[in-house]
Amino acid sequence: MTLQERIRDRKIGIVGMARSGIAAAMLADEFGGKPFVSDSKDAKLLDAQVERLSGLKIPFETGRHSDELLTCDYIVVSPGVPLEIEILAKARHKGIPLFSEIEFASWACRGKIIAVTGSNGKTTTTTLIGEIFSRVGFDTFVGGNIGLPFSEIALKVPEDGVAVIEVSNFQLQTIADFTPDTALLLNLTPDHLDRHGTFDDYKRAKYRITENQGPDQSLIVNLDDPEIVVDDMDTDAKVHYFSVGDKAQALSFVREGTLYCRVGGLETPVINSSEILIPGPHNLQNAAAAAAAASLHGVAPEDIKKVLSDFPGVEHRLENVGRVAGISFVNDSKATNVDSVCYALRSVSTPVYLIAGGRDKGGQFEKIVEHGRDKIKGIIAIGEARDKIFNALGQAFPVEFADTLEQAVRQAFEAAFPGETVMLSPGCASFDQFENFEHRGRVFKDAVATLKNGKNENEALSQR
Ligand code: ADP
Repeated sequence: MTLQERIRDRKIGIVGMARSGIAAAMLADEFGGKPFVSDSKDAKLLDAQVERLSGLKIPFETGRHSDELLTCDYIVVSPGVPLEIEILAKARHKGIPLFSEIEFASWACRGKIIAVTGSNGKTTTTTLIGEIFSRVGFDTFVGGNIGLPFSEIALKVPEDGVAVIEVSNFQLQTIADFTPDTALLLNLTPDHLDRHGTFDDYKRAKYRITENQGPDQSLIVNLDDPEIVVDDMDTDAKVHYFSVGDKAQALSFVREGTLYCRVGGLETPVINSSEILIPGPHNLQNAAAAAAAASLHGVAPEDIKKVLSDFPGVEHRLENVGRVAGISFVNDSKATNVDSVCYALRSVSTPVYLIAGGRDKGGQFEKIVEHGRDKIKGIIAIGEARDKIFNALGQAFPVEFADTLEQAVRQAFEAAFPGETVMLSPGCASFDQFENFEHRGRVFKDAVATLKNGKNENEALSQR
């Protein structure tokens, strides 16, 4: 079926009025469809969206999901909307197809789709692949679960262009024909089980990324992750592997500290791992995954190397925020679980003052002892979890409390010596004191900027 046939004159219900929902409505409108957007939030909380839809004369409702949705030919479900809500259950019962927003957007995308999923490292790997492809001159659009919704970029991608999209398992639950040219499955860990029941359900959702692929399409998976079992996948794709070990069957692999790609049967060195700017063993995995995807699309090893040695990482993920008085500051606000804190600790090579805490997600903070033993000089605990952190780690490390993040930054700065690192890697959600992890990261960076300015003023004063 052509895009026009799927959209023109069809009544398309769109559930969720955040950025993806609005983008999907505009896409439907553009192709002569009849979108109807519905959000259970009150109109007062949706000012900008209401204005946008009204301006476009696209009908919508707020504060409820009415039965009007049940008169639609199909329903596009925005990423944050649980499939279990009553209106979607009713729609399923009536046989109305439900499509995720990435499924819907993919109908309109003429260029190649590279889709990245996994439990961790999606944003970093997606961004890295995007950087590599734009560097070598592809018309590249990066989005999906990060930045711009796929519906907003799909139409802009020319036939010889590339959409690199981060895909969550929620979005994969309601695909039908979604067929990436290249699909990447980075790893599988039992995080986010709240909406997926069992780990098996979660895996099955992730595996769907490849279910429509044929022999002309590629699936790239992590050879080192024992949870990923290609034989359990329903796929006809050509399967490739990446590894951080020296593995004969991998397209990208690491031998004696150097990342290689197998290009045209030849083992070609790409970069020494010490030259990769984003730090830590987990980022070597992300780099290996990105290198595999790039080399499959004919990108030369020297171009992959240039990006890997330049790419500073994604904001709030082990982001290097600079130095004040010889002390380095690292913003890892995205580390909302204890495993991520452990990865972060393995990525720093200097003594570190760790700022941790926030809203506890049931984290086992004791794990930090093993990974931080030779590195942590002190912990500044913030937020609701601070007593729990003190109880778990107070025996192993000096733990201080701070009421605010700004205060924690000052305390850590005062305690640290030149050559050491102050790292925000909270291991907790942010919602007790912040809007989200991005907000928390910005507050951290502002506090560091204040220290920098204060230091400059002090230096200026002392030079007078
Ligand atoms: P995602 O988009 O999947 O949440 P990000 O790229 O945003 O992943 O990284 C989030 C955090 O996850 C990082 O700060 C780091 O602690 C951890 N992480 C990143 N890449 C990996 C990986 N390959 N394996 C395990 N953990 C990782």
